[in-house]
Amino acid sequence: MSECPNHCKNGIYIDPYTHKRRICEFCRDKRKEEIKNGDEKVKLRLPPSLCGTNFSPDNVIPASALPLLDEESVNSVKEAMNRLISGVVLCELPDESVLFNFGSRCHDANFIAPFMRKAYEAGLSVAPLLTPTDIVQLRRAYNEGKEVDFSYDDVIHSQICVIVLDAGTLSDEILYAKGLMQLRAYQKLPTIFVTHIWNVGLNSLCGDVGGKSYDLATLYSVKYVKSLEIEQGDSRRMTLDAFTKTFQ
Ligand SMILES: [Zn+2]
Repeated sequence: MSECPNHCKNGIYIDPYTHKRRICEFCRDKRKEEIKNGDEKVKLRLPPSLCGTNFSPDNVIPASALPLLDEESVNSVKEAMNRLISGVVLCELPDESVLFNFGSRCHDANFIAPFMRKAYEAGLSVAPLLTPTDIVQLRRAYNEGKEVDFSYDDVIHSQICVIVLDAGTLSDEILYAKGLMQLRAYQKLPTIFVTHIWNVGLNSLCGDVGGKSYDLATLYSVKYVKSLEIEQGDSRRMTLDAFTKTFQ
């Protein structure tokens, strides 16, 4: 922040005496105050349904969903959520781009809102929450040279960017989202996707299992104990099992 006495950059400065990386308490306190007043909701464009700062993975994947889910897959999704949240609290960016699927009974808001707020509070630059429609509009405005509050270029350069792939997402829009992830990767920045859909185009967002990168996302997905047809009858959709198999 411009008035910061420590002249920090995104919440971090180098202590002139110890030469160590330090978290800027001045900016952190200012942002804590903003969050107390709810000012950050406007900046991050968090809809009213996305409230709360406290994080617990059990509030994202509720106990009622567990009998349907493979325990190991749930644990790996929870572990990934914890890693991301505890990182941004220390101003550390995720070391990979991520595609989360918490399952159809999840409360994804209980991850999205705390993650974005904690990153913001820590002093990181956080883009507003985006949907694929936002990305398409921002890119068009950028190409046409239109002035907007928060531009496509601003999104590319924000340290934290969360994209919700809603049920209405089209395969073209997935390409726009992938393009944004790639442009962010050139800036060495990760992109975090949260989805409920198993559209055929979605696997183009993901890289090989095991490798970490910014330009392709690692899939962290719950798996169902029994094969579960999602959105039966729509030929554009595939079952979760079939989707997961494309990564094996
Ligand atoms: Zn500062």
